[in-house]
Amino acid sequence: MNDSSSARTCVAVIGGGITGLAAAHRLQELDPVCEIHLFEASDRLGGVLQTTQTEDGYLLENSADNFITNVPDALELCRRLGMEDELLPTNEALRKAYVVRRGELFPVPEGFVLMAPSKIWSILTTPILSWGGKLRLAREYFVPKRNEPTDESLASFVTRRMGQEVYDRLVQPLIGGIYTADPLKLSVQATLRQFVEMERKYGSLIKGMRNRDKAEQQQSHSGARYSMFVAPRLGMEQIVQRLAERLSHQSIHLNSPVQSIRNNAEGWQVESNDMSQTFDAVIVALPAPQAAEALHEFESLADGLRTIPYAGCSVAILAVDQKQIKRPVAGFGFVVPEIENRRILAGSFSNAKFPGRAPSDKVVIRVFVGGACHPELADLSDDQLKEIVLDELGDLIGLEGEPEKFLVTRWMGKMPQYHLGHLDRVAKLEAEASELPGLELAGNAYRGVGVPQCVQSGEKAAARVVTYLRQTMAETSQKDG
Ligand SMILES: Cc1cc2nc3c(=O)[nH]c(=O)nc-3n(C[C@H](O)[C@H](O)[C@H](O)COP(=O)(O)OP(=O)(O)OC[C@H]3O[C@@H](n4cnc5c(N)ncnc54)[C@H](O)[C@@H]3O)c2cc1C
Repeated sequence: MNDSSSARTCVAVIGGGITGLAAAHRLQELDPVCEIHLFEASDRLGGVLQTTQTEDGYLLENSADNFITNVPDALELCRRLGMEDELLPTNEALRKAYVVRRGELFPVPEGFVLMAPSKIWSILTTPILSWGGKLRLAREYFVPKRNEPTDESLASFVTRRMGQEVYDRLVQPLIGGIYTADPLKLSVQATLRQFVEMERKYGSLIKGMRNRDKAEQQQSHSGARYSMFVAPRLGMEQIVQRLAERLSHQSIHLNSPVQSIRNNAEGWQVESNDMSQTFDAVIVALPAPQAAEALHEFESLADGLRTIPYAGCSVAILAVDQKQIKRPVAGFGFVVPEIENRRILAGSFSNAKFPGRAPSDKVVIRVFVGGACHPELADLSDDQLKEIVLDELGDLIGLEGEPEKFLVTRWMGKMPQYHLGHLDRVAKLEAEASELPGLELAGNAYRGVGVPQCVQSGEKAAARVVTYLRQTMAETSQKDG
């Protein structure tokens, strides 16, 4: 396999999720003669990305249903795959999210971007916060900036700057919903670094939001923020299919869980259930726990990988008739604060976000259950989950009767948690991996969980492998004469 006299290099990519696929595709783009072997444990490509198209006109997303374009890597990849025209913007007319307060749904104040306010008027008039909470938020302007360079939890950062109520009522549900994480443990530096930098630069988030240049601000008030999201017409798996088509002449090994990766005199030996081969380089595009297993020979690296915790959630998808919803919501969905003591994290309306997701008189609701704070709920049986979900949706949006469809997908241990100190842990892992030339780590465990960040991580790993292989070949040919 590994032959230093030939110019053809051979690289293994481990993991057939979006990270591994993007890595393999980039390798092929940068070095068209490179022989690529992609190893995937399951019987399909795509990993977490899963789209179900039904014969009766539904397009259901079991996990991710869109991606952001301000981190441009997924968009760029779609362009290179010739599918830019297939990307749908979110429905402009309904670009709104809601938050539950005392059992009722209220719009997230316009201008509240993830965790910072930019439009004072909408904050002053929102029923989501009490007057005390609004006044405390206004005082953010005068809260001195924190000077220590150490990491801080998201909860601490927000309560320190904007008060407990803004944290409980807005930030916890908005951010907890994205990361399905516990904000008391979540690292603000690893997840929302831009706000830490805003505090450092302007001394206050209110000042920072005001001072951001106008164009940027227009991009990011809560409605317009949705203009940054797109989805493929045929769902997220369309990207997976395009990548698989591009890689069709390479060796894709399905049902091939990799058990170990070792370094030997010829290169990198990869052992899967039914083969053992040596490669010039290897990209490990696995979730951290599985990467630790495969790399168990490298004890310190494996131990480091095991320090990145994962949580999970269940996604329940319901298809119902519009008439079954007695209090319909004009928006993309809603989030539920912890202090509401409900049993669901969030709900989103797929047919409101993108066209072609449901027949015209139907509504598709995706409900998220579990997360880092309630793992026991995600573990319930389908019947128990159905009871909970119908009960909660009955209360919140007046859903009545049986759904036409009810599907549950469980994503246990699939969501990395960027806890306090995450960036230090990742820097240490990267330093250790850099001591192993020809080995690259990529995936959602390190520097971003979104699809664009995964694409970026895979593509950067591919570029580093190509540079390494070129250097090695140049050194070999110099030695040879
Ligand atoms: C419910 C949910 C909703 C989400 N929503 C969004 C969203 O709307 N937008 C967004 O941008 N992101 C979203 N994300 C995040 C994003 O989808 C994921 O972070 C991303 O898809 C992960 O891709 P990956 O390739 O790194 O990992 P995975 O998709 O986990 O792929 C890893 C692959 O490795 C394989 N594997 C495991 N062990 C081995 C082994 N030993 N040998 C070989 N193969 C192995 C697995 O079978 C899997 O196919 C969501 C995630 C979840 C769970």
